[in-house]
Amino acid sequence: MRAYPKPLARLIEELENLPGIGPKSAQRIALHLLHTSAEEAAALAEAVREVKEKIKTCSVCFNYAAEDTCALCSDPQRDDGVLCVVGDARDLMAMERAGGHRGRYHVLQGLIAPMEGVGPDSLRISELLARVREGQFTEVILATNPTVEGDATAMYLAGLLKPLGLKVTRIALGLPVGGDLDYADDVTIARSLQGRQEM
Ligand code: ZN
Repeated sequence: MRAYPKPLARLIEELENLPGIGPKSAQRIALHLLHTSAEEAAALAEAVREVKEKIKTCSVCFNYAAEDTCALCSDPQRDDGVLCVVGDARDLMAMERAGGHRGRYHVLQGLIAPMEGVGPDSLRISELLARVREGQFTEVILATNPTVEGDATAMYLAGLLKPLGLKVTRIALGLPVGGDLDYADDVTIARSLQGRQEM
């Protein structure tokens, strides 16, 4: 790294801090940016700045949003009868990409993980219960990851939701156990949604 002038070394260092980027990739990206046009490089810097400034969480479902409510919550075409609960916004994106769910979403912003000190109170569970009580949902689909944490979270939520008198289902079928929704392909996700079972 000492062979690089300071600004270039700094960029490489910053890139190395990103998830999934090793020293070699960081170097390759930095050199690519160095050779790209000033406009393209500025567009990237501007995109990073804008995301930090404008993206917040939706006040209804806790998905990422540029407004007070996200595009999915403000879409009048979505089905208000079915609510799909996911661990994080990446899982929501995976479900949307796969298609098949035309209802609303709720993002828990994590999964119950006692070993990591994440209890139910750290998640958006009270907000979920409030939505279910106030809304017109007839079914809640628990689409948390098929992992120990995802299953534990689904079990916990089923215990809270079922007494409210609505159908509570769990997707699982066909999804690799221990895997993340985010890594599953669209067909697998769509099938696991179709094959969801009542808890
Ligand atoms: Zn939303």
